[in-house]
Formats: sequence, C-alpha cells, structure tokens
Amino acid sequence: MSDSALTRLAHLFALSAFAVAAPLFEMLRRYPEFLAVHGAGGADLLAIAMLSLLPLPFVLWTMESVAGRLRPSLLGPVHAGLVGFLTALITLPPFGRIDWLPGPLPVALAIGVGVAGAIVFVRFRVLRELLLWGAAAAPAFALIFALDPSIRRIAFAEAVAVESSAWPSDTPIVLVVFDALPTVSLLDRNLQIDALRYPNFAEFASHSTWYRQNTTVGYGTLACVSAIFDGRYPANDRHAILADHPQNIFTLTFDSHRQHVLEPLTRLSPERREGDRYFLAKVSRAELLRDTGVILAQLLTPPASRDRLPALDQTWKHFADPSRKHDIEARRKVEAFHAYLDEMRVAEKATLYAIHTVLPHGPFRYFPSGRTYSIEGDDPSGAANWGYWKGMEWAILHNQQRHLLQLAYVDSLLGELLNRLKQLGIYDEALVVLTADHGVGFVVGEQRRGLGDNNRLEVLGVPLLIKRPGQVVGNQSDLPTESIDILPTIAEIAGLSLQAPVDGVSLVGNAAASRTIKRQTYRSPTEFSIDVLSPFKEIVARNFERFGDGADDRLWVFGPNSDLVGRRIEEFELGSATDCRVVLRDADRFDAVDLLSEPLPCELYGELYPEGGSQVRALAIALNGEIVATTQNYRTKENKPRTLWSALLPESALRAGKNDLKIYLIGADARGERMLSPV
Ligand SMILES: [Zn+2]
Repeated sequence: MSDSALTRLAHLFALSAFAVAAPLFEMLRRYPEFLAVHGAGGADLLAIAMLSLLPLPFVLWTMESVAGRLRPSLLGPVHAGLVGFLTALITLPPFGRIDWLPGPLPVALAIGVGVAGAIVFVRFRVLRELLLWGAAAAPAFALIFALDPSIRRIAFAEAVAVESSAWPSDTPIVLVVFDALPTVSLLDRNLQIDALRYPNFAEFASHSTWYRQNTTVGYGTLACVSAIFDGRYPANDRHAILADHPQNIFTLTFDSHRQHVLEPLTRLSPERREGDRYFLAKVSRAELLRDTGVILAQLLTPPASRDRLPALDQTWKHFADPSRKHDIEARRKVEAFHAYLDEMRVAEKATLYAIHTVLPHGPFRYFPSGRTYSIEGDDPSGAANWGYWKGMEWAILHNQQRHLLQLAYVDSLLGELLNRLKQLGIYDEALVVLTADHGVGFVVGEQRRGLGDNNRLEVLGVPLLIKRPGQVVGNQSDLPTESIDILPTIAEIAGLSLQAPVDGVSLVGNAAASRTIKRQTYRSPTEFSIDVLSPFKEIVARNFERFGDGADDRLWVFGPNSDLVGRRIEEFELGSATDCRVVLRDADRFDAVDLLSEPLPCELYGELYPEGGSQVRALAIALNGEIVATTQNYRTKENKPRTLWSALLPESALRAGKNDLKIYLIGADARGERMLSPV
C-alpha cells in the first residue's frame, strides 16, 4: 500500500468528520438553545466548526507520519489501525444508544466494526478511493449546520419581526417563574399553603387569587418556561429562542414597558435596549468551547463510562468543572437573584419585572437560613431526573427532605422580592404572578421528573397565584387552569392587545371553566381528564406522614428509628463491633470545622458493604455524643453489591473546631430492644 501523504490525510479527515463533527453538529442543531444560552455568534460557530473538523485528523496524520519516518514498514499498518479506530468511533454512539446492550458490549461491538473496517480498507482499493470523496463530506456537514434556520437566527442574529401590543399600558407587571416546584410541596395537612414553613407564599396568597388546579403543559424546563411566556403549547420544532416565539411576554410589553429580565435558560426576550436590564448569565467563548468539548466527550463516550464526565443537563452551561459544578451552580442561582433585586428601579414608565429563577430546582444545597452544605456531585443516590427511583426508598426521602429545606429558603427569597417591590412603592398597583415551570415527584418506582401513573400531580401540578393591581382580598379558584393561560390573563389585566393567537385563555372571564381535558407534551402530547389531576389529599397525606408540616415539623426527624434523634449515646448499651463495613466519604471534614465558612460539612454519604448482600441496615449518626440523624442504606441504580447511604445534619448540630462523628448500626438485643453497634 503506498498512499501519498495527502491521500492519507484525506482519509483521516473524512473519517474524523463522520466521527466527530457530524454527531456534534447534529446535537447542536437539535438543541439550538445551547448556542443561544451561550450567546454564540458567527465567529463562535466558526471556531466550533474548525475545532471539530481539523485538529484530530492532523494529530493522527502527524503520528503516523512520524511512525513512518522511524520505520517505513510501520506506515501502512498504523494508517490502517487509525482508520479502524475512527471507524470504531463512528459506530460507538449508535451502539451506545441501544438500551438493552449491557455494559461493555457497545464498546466491544464498535471495536469489532473498527477491526473489520481496517481489514476492508486494506483489502479493497476501491474503498480507499471512495473514502477520498468522503473528505468532501466534511465541509458539507459544516454547511448544513450553518444553513439550519434556528442556527442562523441565533448565530447570525437574523432579524425577527416581534409582536408588540398596539395598546399602551401603565401597569407594572411582575412575573416570577420558579423551577421544579410542585404545588403539593407548599401545602399543610389542611391543603392550605403552609404559613409556618412558607410564610411569604402564604402571605402573598392572602391577598391574591390562588389557582389550585393549575398544571404545566410540558416536561422540560425550556418548553415549560416558553409556554408560560408565550401562552402556547410546546411543539418539538419550536425552540426556546425568540425567533420561534415572536409573541411573548417580552415582545408584547416591549413598546409599553421597560424590561427588567432574569432569563437564565430560555432566550425569548428581544435584543437589548438602552435603559432595560437583562440578566442573561454571560458566558465567555472559552467556556462555550469547553462546554462544547463536554458535549462531544459525552457523545463519544460509551454509556457505562459517562457518569465520570460532567453531566449534560438543561442548564446547557458550565458543564465543565465537574467536582465543584453543582456547588457553583447553586450559588450562582442565588447570586443572580440578588443581583436582579439590587438593580430593580422605578423607571419613567411601567416596567415588566420577569424572573425565571432555577430554584428550588436542584442541586439541593440550601438550608432554610440560606447557608449551604457541601456534597460531591448532585446527589449521592445518583437518581437522575429521568432515571427510575426503584429500591431507593431512603434516597427518595432524603431527596425530598433536601427539596423541602431548599424550598423554605426560596420562600425567604420570595419575601425579599416582595419587600423590594414594596420599597419601590409599586407593589400595590402591580400585577404580580407567581408560578413554576414544572413539578418534581417523590414516588417509589417512578421517575423524578418523567410522567408516570403515580406522580402526575407532583410532576404537573404547579402553583399559580395572581395578584391583580389593587387586590387586597385573597381567594382560591378551582378553575382547571394551565400555564398557557398566564400570558392571555396578563394581557387582559394589563390592557395589552395580543397580536397573534394563543392556546391559553384569559382567567379573567370564565372561559377556562369549560375546559374538560388538559394537555401535556411529555415525549408526545398526552391528554388528561381534569379529574385525574385534581385529588391532592393522598399526596398531601403521604407528605405529612413523611415530614409533618409546619405545625408538626419533622423535617429533621423522619423515617424508621427517628425517635432516637436527640438521645445521648451513653443512654445505650453498645453492642460489639459488626463485620458490616461502613465507609464515610471525606471524614476529615469534621476535624476542624469553621462555622463561618461555607459550604458546611453537613451532608454525610458513603458506602455500606454488608455481609449477606444488599439488605437494608439502619444507621444512627452521632455528633459529639448525641444522635442527630438516622438513616438507611439503599441500592445504587447499577445494582452492585455495595450499597450507598446518606444523611443530612442540621447546621445547629455542628460546633466550631473538632467534631466527634460516630456511626452506629441499629440492631436489636435479645429482648428486642434497639441496640447500637459502632461501625
Ligand atoms: Zn425546570
């Protein structure tokens, strides 16, 4: 075989384009929000195209050329080997997408195809020539990518005709969209907003209209938030960018209102205008390229090893920096909220204050006080948003505890916002709308976010509270509302004229009363009868049983053995050490605790290796001689023999300096009394 250097380069160039550039471009076309959120322009796109097309073939070509210089007989085999490697890389993602292929099999199959590819490549000259033509495919991929309508609108800022209200309006409008907040999480045992845990939500409800039966219409954040902003059901071919939503809350108020916008994930607000404030979370080009690299690594990594990479998620940002990613993300959300409040002003005309805060959405890091605790990764259970919670009862309880604690902090953030509006003197005259994009479920055997038969109300039922200008009396409505009703309602109350049709109806009249089905676009549009979604009682009763409510608060004392919390270790006769091995990660965090620095070392997690398989073992955590938490182990999603355990300590349990942390296995003595055995 005697291919010229240029021919060899063309081979590698062609195969790299299929292995790297094609899947990356395809991913970016499917999720143009990624580029929108990063504020990517034409130059960024060019950089991404160059980096995905050029470096890899040149590096491989240099490697084989060097090998050929050292020993000419090596050149042919090395080239064939690299052709095989790239062929394997091309076939890995499709094999990885086959769910039922276990662990290493996708990699083995890809290697098999790679070896076959190398052999065929050596044997058949016609294939080598064909591959030369493949080199022309690379620019073609780039062209298809750049000509995609969504990509063009984002990167080359093609002008979009926006739909603005023809009528003037001087009503200040405040629209607050929380994230991953099910209505039921706010309720006490009497199905009212829990005034002890969430005083600010309850206070707001006391002089606004609470639509208790409100549901979301999508499943992903981008779709759900877009539907709130534009009043239309989500559609797969519409992305969370302005061009796909020419009429939305921002465009509608653009002529009549100043804009004060916190929009971290979607990009529905029009271009910047002098005097308006947009908090869009700026991202540098370096960060864009790094995040693109993470997408690529995810695409090309076999599924079994993907957990080690930063996860791709709908925030579409800051994928890199995996160990600290979630701590940073949690902090940034609150910083953005505070920056937004600090810069709120009264302008010469009415203002639209629109906030999408990605809270109380995880990562769960906040105590109700606003102080943070640390943990490695997002969640010790690894229960992903779309993974099923099976055999993980304790992981569900622990997650729900952290969700409710974070929600209590979100309540105080809401209090800060309402105070700020009062300070500015616009609260009374303002139209204020509180809602959330979607919920989150805590049901055994269901997904956290995906819709199942047993988690509908938690996943779909989201708060909707509307305070009309001057409203001082609260009331509750059981109209079957949907989040698409928010925009037409705002338009009617604020006197704005809709220029294009919407799917929702204004809640001012009685139009929603005739609704008999609700729609939700989880995977494909699903319709529900109103009855299926209305009963709150069971879930509220379940939550009450788990964690009580504000009047009987058991957020720190829950689950079996929770009656041990608060007792001193010396009250117990201790059993002998067990052969069950309990590992606590980062145990040295307790050697020198600084109460003034955050995050606090309050989250405990590790592995438990029991004798006799993965049976459930109960643990008591003692800090400085007192039991402060009880917990249990749970299986991991990979179903390995090791099990995981986790527990959260209240911040008040820590003291400055050295803390004595001990873990005990809870067993029973001969009389059936509970007994603690040090592990
Ligand atoms: Zn969301």
